[in-house]
Amino acid sequence: MMYDIVIIGGGPAGCAAGVYAARKKLKALLLTETFGGQSIVSDDIQNWVGAKSISGFDLAKNLEEHVRAQEGIEIKVPEKGAAVKEIKGGFEVTSDKGATYQTKTVLIASGGRRRKLGVPGEEKFNGKGVAYCSTCDAPLFKGKTVVVVGGGNAGLEAAVDLLPYAAKIYLLEFGSALKGDPVTQAELKKSPMVTIITNAQTKEVMGDKFVSGLKYSDRSTNEEKTLEVGGIFVEIGSIPNSEMVKGLVEMNPIGEILVDHKHSSTSKVGIWAAGDVTDDPYKQNNISAGDAVKATLSIYNYLLKTKK
Ligand SMILES: Cc1cc2nc3c(=O)[nH]c(=O)nc-3n(C[C@H](O)[C@H](O)[C@H](O)COP(=O)(O)OP(=O)(O)OC[C@H]3O[C@@H](n4cnc5c(N)ncnc54)[C@H](O)[C@@H]3O)c2cc1C
Repeated sequence: MMYDIVIIGGGPAGCAAGVYAARKKLKALLLTETFGGQSIVSDDIQNWVGAKSISGFDLAKNLEEHVRAQEGIEIKVPEKGAAVKEIKGGFEVTSDKGATYQTKTVLIASGGRRRKLGVPGEEKFNGKGVAYCSTCDAPLFKGKTVVVVGGGNAGLEAAVDLLPYAAKIYLLEFGSALKGDPVTQAELKKSPMVTIITNAQTKEVMGDKFVSGLKYSDRSTNEEKTLEVGGIFVEIGSIPNSEMVKGLVEMNPIGEILVDHKHSSTSKVGIWAAGDVTDDPYKQNNISAGDAVKATLSIYNYLLKTKK
């Protein structure tokens, strides 16, 4: 059996593509590890258009329900796309379960995963003071001094999540200024509990049985400094989940898939990509969903034109 489209991923991008593919009556398969995407851990999303406020959990539930309500779309979950190869008339997607699916087109919507610090002590103290999800773990750090590494949106949100629990919060940014949303920056700057440290390069996670400190170097003076903390939240961005098409489509040096932003098509005819897995500079739920819709409509037109 040959699908018209195999969608890899079930975040905002994959779900939006699933809805549109089904409504265009494409023979569609959606393969995903989980539904909902990265913001599932967020307590309060306030910029998902159409909802003044929604939790990441509810957004994930709505996305899954919307796709499942479509007639004709086949869904495999939990199942990951592990490899994509070109075959006559299209592509073959191999999943992590060893299944193979033939398809005329592929939409990569597999998003990203958390980037790690890669410094000594990080792995040893993972779960013993080193955390990657503030929404999940903030209450465990009640009354402690903690540090959030990363001054982008994820880092700022983590610091906000920690405000009701931690005794003191350091916010460490590698660059010379915070990068996240100015409204959230202002909220944090108002709090006497938050100290912002810029130009800081993390060097080591310290501890015995549990985290006791974080060593960093001040990039403006090269001086090494240590913060005594009982918790470290790592929020330094994500790595694109693009491994399954490595060598098949063009990527930038950090593994983001290069797309033509008019159609969301990749360098390989027949493969599209949308959302956080691409080189789009803005990683947002609405953008992922919108770009996936664009990609799906472009795929529909491609299938019509090529009469595939
Ligand atoms: C803590 C946090 C809070 C955020 N808050 C906001 C916010 O308030 N507003 C906003 O607009 N954005 C927010 N973002 C950013 C937003 O979550 C992302 O831009 C968005 O989720 C990207 O959607 P996506 O569908 O491209 O990818 P993802 O959300 O990463 O979804 C990818 C999906 O694909 C699945 N998958 C991964 N690899 C494979 C594979 N090989 N095969 C099959 N399936 C796979 C995953 O399980 C996942 O379901 C936040 C991000 C974080 C981390």
